[in-house]
Amino acid sequence: MENKKRPHALVLPYPAQGHINPMLQFCKRLVSKGIKVTLANTIYISKSMLADPQSPVCFGTYSDGFDLGGYAQSESTDNYLSSLRDVGFQTLGNLIKKLDEAGNPVNVLIYDGFLPWAFDVAKNFGLKKAVFFTQSCAVNTIYYHVYKGLISLPPRDDETSVISIPGLPLFKSWEAPAPMEYRDLLINQYSNVDYVDWVFFNTFHKLEEEVLKYVTKLWKVRTIGPTLPSMYLDKRLEDDKDYGINLFKPNYGACMEWLSDKPSGSVIYVSFGSFIQVEAEQMEEIAWGLKDSNFNFLWVVRELEKAKLPNNFINEISEQGLVVTWSPQLEILTHESIGCFVTHCGFNSVIEAISLGVPIVGMPQWSDQPANGKYVDDVWGVGFRARPDEKGIVNRNVLKSSIKEVMEEEKGKVIKENAAKWKNLATEALDEGGSSDKNISEFAAELLYC
Ligand code: UDP
Repeated sequence: MENKKRPHALVLPYPAQGHINPMLQFCKRLVSKGIKVTLANTIYISKSMLADPQSPVCFGTYSDGFDLGGYAQSESTDNYLSSLRDVGFQTLGNLIKKLDEAGNPVNVLIYDGFLPWAFDVAKNFGLKKAVFFTQSCAVNTIYYHVYKGLISLPPRDDETSVISIPGLPLFKSWEAPAPMEYRDLLINQYSNVDYVDWVFFNTFHKLEEEVLKYVTKLWKVRTIGPTLPSMYLDKRLEDDKDYGINLFKPNYGACMEWLSDKPSGSVIYVSFGSFIQVEAEQMEEIAWGLKDSNFNFLWVVRELEKAKLPNNFINEISEQGLVVTWSPQLEILTHESIGCFVTHCGFNSVIEAISLGVPIVGMPQWSDQPANGKYVDDVWGVGFRARPDEKGIVNRNVLKSSIKEVMEEEKGKVIKENAAKWKNLATEALDEGGSSDKNISEFAAELLYC
């Protein structure tokens, strides 16, 4: 089919690694089904990213009002989000006009749930609208109930309250999502969800079967995950080995060389994602907990977090551990020396570990992470949650014993069996005719005929 005639989707992720990764992967799947796709990044991200020059996806830019430094250039979260909304509204419209003038009119805008203002941009241009949620369906369903005023989130130290929602297990207060200063951003995701043409989730049918039964009654839901590069799952998209946009530079050589002589299943991989700042006290407990575990460990400590490492820690761990500022996470998780993943339970990290069959030690910090941690432990059985103390800190002994629950042969047996089971189901979802593959094909077909 001629390029010009293909339906054109404009895809708008929130400008952060954990949002770009799943949405870019979805773009690649759409291209494979005959859709032309343009992914819009902010000018700042576009200047700072390392993008795959061979990408089948086209890139466009809009502005968040901070073209020189992005979020770091803003005065506060509120300041950033209001500029992203106001300047974004205008400049996203400019991008749509520009694409139209270049002979590539857009048919559908697929926007991140974090950017509900994009709904009105699409409406102004008469486009179809789809919202893409990068968090789990369970978490989004909880937030939706908060938005509708049907429940409120109890304080984390409230021992008595529970959250009860159809299709979800009961959540104790400390297991519920904790939106903190991003409350408006998270809750307002639902301001127009009842009016969009499609609702996409980076999950797969079997993973969240119960809650999906409930939300499919509310919206036209399509599960399209897990959004890992195809080579890790169904292997049907040629050369799709990497997400394709890196906001940080991975220490590839150092990681691979260090892992190369470690025995199979012997290394703990530790990462807290791209965004959160771990409390200094927590950082110290993690450091000594890892050292005391006596296992080898590969720990990602981002440049800005490094000052929180205990004095002399790097010298003391010597060959037992490697600390890097950013890793090629998927390649690490598939390395045969890895035995478990100590994670903050960001949804991408969780779904990556599930898809690659790596058992998890959960150390959720905030936002959707406590709820993801609950699913990891209680629902999917693919990991063990390290329980924080009353100050919210996981102390070194708790971390050490949680690691043992997963790494030791007898204790970790069931977790490992579950991890292997979910890995197969994740791949099945994207194999030809699998639930996610079918949903992506159906969406592409609807676009072709609308
Ligand atoms: N990631 C990576 N290298 C690292 C740490 C993280 O490539 O050293 C990737 C990881 O594979 C995931 C994303 O960054 O796709 C982090 O997303 P997640 O939802 O887990 O956490 P967030 O950064 O949103 O808190």
